[in-house]
Amino acid sequence: MTNNELLPTLAFTGGTKAITMTPVVGTPQRQYAEMFVPGEEPLEDGELRVTVLGSGNPWPTRAQASASILVEVGNPERDILVFDLGTGSLANYASLKLPVNQLNKVFISHLHADHMGDVLTLSGSLSKVGRADGPVYVWGPSGTEPRLGTEHFCKAIEDVLAWDTAAGNGAINPESMKIVGSEFDFSKTQVVYEKNSVKVTSFPVVHCISGAVGYRLDFAGLSLGFSGDTRPCWPLVRACEGVDLLIHECFPPAKALAAASGLSIERATIALNAAHTSPKAAGKVFNLVKPRLAGLWHTLLSPEVVSMLFAELGEVYTGPVVQTQDLTVINITKYAVICRQAKVVDQLPPIAGQQRIAFKPVAVSPPEWWAEALIPIDYPSCR
Ligand SMILES: [Zn+2]
Ligand SMILES: [Zn+2]
Repeated sequence: MTNNELLPTLAFTGGTKAITMTPVVGTPQRQYAEMFVPGEEPLEDGELRVTVLGSGNPWPTRAQASASILVEVGNPERDILVFDLGTGSLANYASLKLPVNQLNKVFISHLHADHMGDVLTLSGSLSKVGRADGPVYVWGPSGTEPRLGTEHFCKAIEDVLAWDTAAGNGAINPESMKIVGSEFDFSKTQVVYEKNSVKVTSFPVVHCISGAVGYRLDFAGLSLGFSGDTRPCWPLVRACEGVDLLIHECFPPAKALAAASGLSIERATIALNAAHTSPKAAGKVFNLVKPRLAGLWHTLLSPEVVSMLFAELGEVYTGPVVQTQDLTVINITKYAVICRQAKVVDQLPPIAGQQRIAFKPVAVSPPEWWAEALIPIDYPSCR
């Protein structure tokens, strides 16, 4: 990690590569294109493909959506799971040419808005573009009281979508507007999902107040660890030891955070110390976990921050590491871990996916007062 000046430039400043000195760890068994082009590279059997949908901070920018990590699983079902769904992450999902109705399994690390802001959009808006088959399933931690837990969150989102749901009456399958919450005890390390050879384990992490977790995903001998938001903590190290990829949050030092975000140095220091992980602390965690590839994540990115992070991290950790950006794509196989940026176009029509239920939309009669309110237009249905 001594040649930081050789690091690729950020995607939003024109870079085309993942920010890492080790884009390939191991010996790949096939050729990987220099950039990942959605739709042109089918997932292989037994492979995991992890794409960062949101790498940024609580305030989404054009360059960085808030927190979200997508996992495509190379099982026969080609399952799609998403860890966190922060604001803006669905725009990045749309760019990947993946079916909308496959995106119905969401694992929330904690209920900070930047980790769940797009759940409302997934439920309300994506039901209008193909996610018609049924509910969104959300897994997430309990809180220290019911109103701080995932169950309450899911019911509340359903509730605020009352008008949206009523407005879709007749046209949209009402089942697709449901959110089914599965709340589990935040304080335990435990398996919270097991299906189609995919296992998801949650573990408690240390972030602001009780009720935040991280996750580990296992599939076919491959594994991913995801910190959510946390200070460096033992439950994560114990649960994630030896994973293939560990995506861990990392905030820049307080001074850099303050300069980049406009926060006062006091606020930035508190935010970092009480809730997050510095580059050196992340390095310590990586040394304990020893992943094949470590990923830094949830970072307000700028060229200065990137070189600062790598310099500080490099003082304690010298293993393979990538600073994730939006649409960093990481393929994990038995043989290798490959790290690239995706090449996407900004405007793609959604791909609905294969509809698995029969639902026939029907027209419903409009409110009576519309007859007076509408301006007659000369086409048959308005006469
Ligand atoms: Zn948080
Ligand atoms: Zn966060």
